Amino acid sequence: MLLNNSNHHTDLVEIACLVLTFSTPTGVNSDYYEGAGAAGPLATFDGAETWVEHPYKDGVALVGDAAAASDPSWGQGLASTLRDVRLLRDELLKTEDWNAAGHRFAAEHDSHAGIMHTVIGWYTELYLATGAAADARRAKALPLIAEDPTRQPDILFCGPDLAVNDGDRKRFFAEV
Ligand SMILES: Cc1cc2nc3c(=O)[nH]c(=O)nc-3n(C[C@H](O)[C@H](O)[C@H](O)COP(=O)(O)OP(=O)(O)OC[C@H]3O[C@@H](n4cnc5c(N)ncnc54)[C@H](O)[C@@H]3O)c2cc1C
Repeated sequence: MLLNNSNHHTDLVEIACLVLTFSTPTGVNSDYYEGAGAAGPLATFDGAETWVEHPYKDGVALVGDAAAASDPSWGQGLASTLRDVRLLRDELLKTEDWNAAGHRFAAEHDSHAGIMHTVIGWYTELYLATGAAADARRAKALPLIAEDPTRQPDILFCGPDLAVNDGDRKRFFAEV
């Protein structure tokens, strides 16, 4: 839930809505929240995917979110950051030619960030899209994934060392 933090009054109203939203389904006694208020502006984050093509130039390599940031809902950012550090280290240790090492790192980054970007886009479309068509797609796809978990490309636990293609997308979306 994104809250407007530009106006203190709006924050207070939205905090009250948030407390009601969470306390009712979780069964927490809403009296516990009596007098709860905003201690300050609520932080928000941008769920957009952002990336740089070929994140190396003239002796400067970008790693982590500076090179590619994914929607944190899928929890891949820090793992990818550490992966970038490892890949760059490995390339630098292989050669005295650090310019060539930077370019090899960037090419590998484009490849794994591209796979993550593609698969996270599929996840977002299947799990988070709203509307009747999205509900119908989930009703068809989720039982098949439960029956055969290999239908879901497993970048969340296995990382982006997967080759994914249109056939994988069709299996995930229960189109085959
Ligand atoms: C809400 C949320 C939930 C997340 N959940 C997960 C998760 O479950 N699992 C996961 O793996 N990842 C998660 N992430 C992503 C993860 O936090 C990031 O991918 C990771 O922190 C990126 O590391 P980084 O070092 O590239 O950038 P950052 O951690 O953003 O570090 C950049 C640092 O540079 C500093 N800085 C910026 N500008 C300057 C400047 N001009 N001068 C000096 N310093 C500067 C910043 O203050 C910051 O400390 C989440 C992110 C968010 C926002």
